[in-house]
Amino acid sequence: MMKTILENPLLKNQCYINGKWVGAKSGQVKLLRNPANNEVLVDIPQLSREEIKYAINAASHAMVGWRELSGKQRSLYLRKWFDLVQAHRDDLASLIVFEEGKPFVEALAEVDYAASFIEWFAEEAKRVKGDVMAPPQAGSRIIVLKEPIGVCATITPWNFPAAMITRKIAPALAAGCTAIAKPAQQTPLTAFGLAFLAEKAGIPAGVFNVVTGKASDIGDEFTSNPIIKKISFTGSTEIGRHLIQQSAQTIKKVSMELGGNAPFIVFNDADVEKAVEGLIATKFRNTGQACISANRVYVQEGIYDAFIQVLKDKVGKLKVGNGFDKTVQQGPLIDTSALEKVEEHIADALKKGANLVQGGKRHGLGGLFFEPTVLSGVTQNMLVCREETFGPIAPVIRFHSEADVVKMANDTEYGLAAYLFSKDAERIWRVSAAIESGMIGINTGAISNEVAPFGGIKESGLGREGSIYGMDEYLELKYLAWHGAGENKLKEGEN
Ligand code: NAP
Repeated sequence: MMKTILENPLLKNQCYINGKWVGAKSGQVKLLRNPANNEVLVDIPQLSREEIKYAINAASHAMVGWRELSGKQRSLYLRKWFDLVQAHRDDLASLIVFEEGKPFVEALAEVDYAASFIEWFAEEAKRVKGDVMAPPQAGSRIIVLKEPIGVCATITPWNFPAAMITRKIAPALAAGCTAIAKPAQQTPLTAFGLAFLAEKAGIPAGVFNVVTGKASDIGDEFTSNPIIKKISFTGSTEIGRHLIQQSAQTIKKVSMELGGNAPFIVFNDADVEKAVEGLIATKFRNTGQACISANRVYVQEGIYDAFIQVLKDKVGKLKVGNGFDKTVQQGPLIDTSALEKVEEHIADALKKGANLVQGGKRHGLGGLFFEPTVLSGVTQNMLVCREETFGPIAPVIRFHSEADVVKMANDTEYGLAAYLFSKDAERIWRVSAAIESGMIGINTGAISNEVAPFGGIKESGLGREGSIYGMDEYLELKYLAWHGAGENKLKEGEN
């Protein structure tokens, strides 16, 4: 196990633009800290708007050659990148632990998940296909082609610093687009590490670029620059809304993976042990800092007490600490404001009548560590039900009927993920049909993989990532109306 970040062979602290590693011309940098112990890791360049423009122009020039390659040729580049990510999974996972804080085993799982998108879209690159349609007039043809949309800009959050990038960059590159990625300020090293491996895979200069700097400057340039044809964003609904508004000026295509407020519903006929395990998997992974994390736990009255008891026992045993300790199951929160939000949500719930079952305060380790927490007697008017907590709190709400719980589950502007636990197939169909959300986990807390379409409805987003649908976000349709092309009568005689 590496002791310092300097030993990591993937460590880069410069931006990657047009195949070169560069700092800010102004020399401006920002210190990057480890959330587990507040140690300074390295400094990170703060590029100017002119330097962002330069990266966009480089991506535009690179697209000329990249889009001309066949899908199979692009697939081979992506495959090499995938192989290198796999070969360096420990190094990438270690970068994630240093800058994001999650347990090493979770970081490894994230690297595998991130790699799966590169592999999947390497395969999909070979399968882009259009259509030929029956025309309304005789003797003509309707041909539909799919073409790369153009230069893409991606903006991603810190909570999954590898996967959020590959889930966008791999389909963009597979489609024949070039891209500029802006990682979160807390987690640029994983992005640089991925770019370093893309460089080693031989992906041509300018095809994949990574920039860092002031978020609003980069966002303003991405959304106003006419060269950028597509913005793909993962992050909060508030910033997503702002980026959609800004992108309207130049009518860009947008994909938005935004916030969530996932209901986790357990019916009387569910297997309580399995439901608690599913809840712990989705709730305490990454210290509760996942957009699809269960935010509100609805348990039917017949099993409510038993469920709380099993949950308390299991949550009480979760080990908190530095992610490099292999026995640790929960790392720190990302920053002080995340810690304060968790405290605010607990205080609000207790003031409004909830009971503290487990945890509830800052961890004895100090810093950004917080105890895994369970609240019972929670009601719909509490902040834990209204807002995305993004922390390690399981607030449990008692419910009476299917109709009651669906009404409460849908009482939110979000619609990303939901979870149901039941053994009754008819109930599963009924409730799945009524729940307003883009993804539903049925008797499982693990729903993310490269094969399934990831995304939300309502104010949780626009578009889907991964799956056979993910590449369409980076393709445009072009329709050829070909008159006179459909003359089927064979010519008589020599001509
Ligand atoms: P955030 O504040 O929206 O930040 C996300 C990204 O947006 C960061 O790179 C940030 O840059 C950038 N940003 C901030 N202000 C910007 C601006 N004015 N213009 C352009 N970019 C700007 O979100 P967060 O709090 O870091 O992440 C947590 C949120 O992400 C949660 O709501 C979570 O649900 C959501 N999320 C959604 C999904 C999904 O797939 N639906 C997945 C993961 C997370 P800086 O870091 O430099 O400030």
